[in-house]
Order: sequence, then C-alpha cells, then structure tokens
Amino acid sequence: MKKIIKIGKPYITEGKSDIFGESVKLCAKVTFENPNNNQIETKECYFEFEKKYKKYLCIERSDAFVMGLLTAAMENDMDIEYETPISERLYYQLMTYYIPMVAKYNSKYPMNNIKLMGPTDSKIISNEHAVATGCSGGVDTFYTIAKHVTKIIPKSNRLTHIIYSSSCTSDFIDQRVKDIYISNLNFINNIAKECNVISINCYNNLYEFYKIPFRGFNMFFTTTFSSVAFSLQKLISIYYASSGTPIEYFNIDIEKTKGWDGSAIDIFTVANLNTENLSVYSTGIEVNRNEKIKYIADYKPAQNNLKVCGMESSGSKSNNGFNNCSHCKKCLRTMFSLYAINKLDSFNKVFDTKSFRQNINKNIGKLISIDHNSFTKESISLCKQNKVKISFKAYMYAYLYYKPIKILKKIFHNSLIVRKIYYKLNLDYKLDGYRDPSYDYYKEKINKK
Ligand SMILES: [Zn+2]
Repeated sequence: MKKIIKIGKPYITEGKSDIFGESVKLCAKVTFENPNNNQIETKECYFEFEKKYKKYLCIERSDAFVMGLLTAAMENDMDIEYETPISERLYYQLMTYYIPMVAKYNSKYPMNNIKLMGPTDSKIISNEHAVATGCSGGVDTFYTIAKHVTKIIPKSNRLTHIIYSSSCTSDFIDQRVKDIYISNLNFINNIAKECNVISINCYNNLYEFYKIPFRGFNMFFTTTFSSVAFSLQKLISIYYASSGTPIEYFNIDIEKTKGWDGSAIDIFTVANLNTENLSVYSTGIEVNRNEKIKYIADYKPAQNNLKVCGMESSGSKSNNGFNNCSHCKKCLRTMFSLYAINKLDSFNKVFDTKSFRQNINKNIGKLISIDHNSFTKESISLCKQNKVKISFKAYMYAYLYYKPIKILKKIFHNSLIVRKIYYKLNLDYKLDGYRDPSYDYYKEKINKK
C-alpha cells in the first residue's frame, strides 16, 4: 500500500521562544513514516515568527505545509493528504505539471509521482501586497535585493521584505540549527536595515521530516524554501525565488545539467507555484554567477555583509573573525571571481582576502580541480579579459596535487578504515582548512564498527 503523509488542520499557537521572545507559530500535526527510522510518527510541523506576524498567518490553506513537505513526500514516495484546502491553482499546477514531470525525468534521484489528496479553494485571501525574497546574505540573494530595490523596477514589484528562514539548514542537530539561526539574526536584520527593507524572521522544523543527509534540501529545494511565503499569504503577494542557475543550463532532468542543482528548473517550478493570492518569480536566471558578482560588487550592503560560506549552515563554525571561512569551495570560488574583476579588496570586511592572496596558486589550483559547473572556467576567462595573471603553478597544483587527491577520495569514499585514519591525521584540516559536518555522521558509524 502507498505511504501517506497526513497534514492536519493548520492552527496558531502563541508563546515564548528562546529565539524571538514573544512568538507565534503556524502549526499542523503531521503523521508520516519517518524516512530515518521507518517508524510511523505524528509530529507538529511549524513555522515560527515574531508575535507581530500573527495576523498574517494563513490558517485557511494547507499550502505552506504541502509546499514545505512536497520534496520529502516525493523523495520517499508518499502521497499527501490534507484536511484544510490548498489553493486551487496550486493544486492544478502541482498535480498536472510539477509533480508528474519532475518525477518522470528525475526518477533515478528518486523523485516519485505522488498524489495530493484533499479539498481545494479558489477564494482570494486579502493581503497587504508585500514583495519578499528569501535572504541568506549570499550572492544570489544580494543580486535579487540589489536589483529589486532600484527605481527601474515598477513600484508594485519593488522589494519590501526579506525573509530569513531556517529552511536552508543542512544540519540535523536541533540545538545546533537553532544556535546558528539565532547567531545570524542580527546579521540579517542589519542587511534589511542597510537595504532599506523589512526583515521577516521564520524558524521552522521542516528538516525533521526530511531524510538525512538532506539531499531534498540541497536539490529540489525551491518548494521548501518558498513555503515560508505561503505561510504568510495575508501579507505577501509577490515572492522572488533567487535562482543559482542561469537559464542556459535548464534541463528538467537535473542529472543532465552537469552539476547544477534543482534551481536549474526554477523557471518551471515557480510557474507552478502561483496561487490566487501569491505570484512567485525566479530571479537571477538571466545572468551567470560572475555577472551577479559583478552586479553586486559596488553595492555597499553586499560589501559589508556578503556571506557565501557553506560551512556554517552545515553546522561548522568559522572562527576566523570574518563572515566567511574563506577556505571552503563556496568561499574560494567567490573570492576568485572578485579577484578576477579586481574587486577582491572591496570585500575585505567579509573575507580573509590576505590569506587568499598568500595562497593564491593553491586556491586557484583547488578550484580548477573541483570545478563542476563552469564557475572557475568563467572566472579564468574574466581574468584574461581584465589582464589578471594566473600563474602556471596554479595549474600544477590542480593537476598534480588536488586532482589525484580527488580520485583517491572517490575510491575510498565508503571505507570506514580509511576515513578513520583520514580524521585521525586531521587530513581534512590539512587539505581543506576545515572539518566537514559529515564527520559526526561517520564518527558514529566508525564507533559502532
Ligand atoms: Zn566557507
């Protein structure tokens, strides 16, 4: 029999939280087979906000919960049943196009063709016409912000709010997710202030319903991330989903996009997320990463706050005093792009640019060896355009040092003995400059053996 994830009626609770103080939650009881232990569980799924957002929470629709759990359901082949209606347009679009097409072309992922079962409603819910986008402080979001606060954008499309949510976590330890979320609150509020928009902060526990290690969040995440906007359908009428993938890489079969993630199909995804109350757009698909970096390179809020580092959202904290660890591949590739357009020093508040320059050949070599979606190739061509020299040593590091290491890592990926030695000798720190959070996952496996 097909598995079912059941979403109860949405309801609102008020209380005190260690994140927001006086807070309010949009909740629903969710019954499902937990993919991490195969047990049937009933859990409260919630989107938590500061209390002032209470009047905007949408209990009349199940949209936020269906959206937030859609990838978990498709990944684990569970139909979704809900008591309270979902928006009729959303139902039509998801059932007719999004679910069957994503499942058909990504069956190996696996994404499965599932059913949505429950009532629909086409009544318009009145709202305050806020225009919002998610904000992590990264390149894609700064591009969306910088572009949508300008006067070229029609007033009704101009950005009014940024949403900071915990949905993008790659971690699974509750307290750690919370601690990192709290530690970034001031950072996001400061971005909002500098960009002259309002920050909406949302903590949710969607990750508790996903399979560890969260490929669902790292791959088909646009529905998950957008779900927060659906929880506030009485406030927001336009939501911009910042896409990391240029339109030229669009392919409904993600495996054919040569290393891009689910944002490669954002233009298709967002076309299926519109409701009677909310329009969703995919922003940033018209340019590539380097063009985005160039666009924001002179934008002061970006120079002061840019945060691209992937380590913190994965549970690893950087303690170098900068926003970014300046060692991981996300940090390195961004610094290299800035270096290629002679703008690296404008970002010395947020990156350890001194260390990047000191190890320039090693860093470029490492990027050449791991380039899987053309960022590095584009940066190299920018270097040529801007007469920024790349030393031959960088290529030596790439082909004689980092590439062989990459091959060895691939061969011994599943060997717990090799991993044990690798961690014991701190080779991760020595090679990459940081410890990946998958360490916790493997440490447990190694100890059990
Ligand atoms: Zn980093």
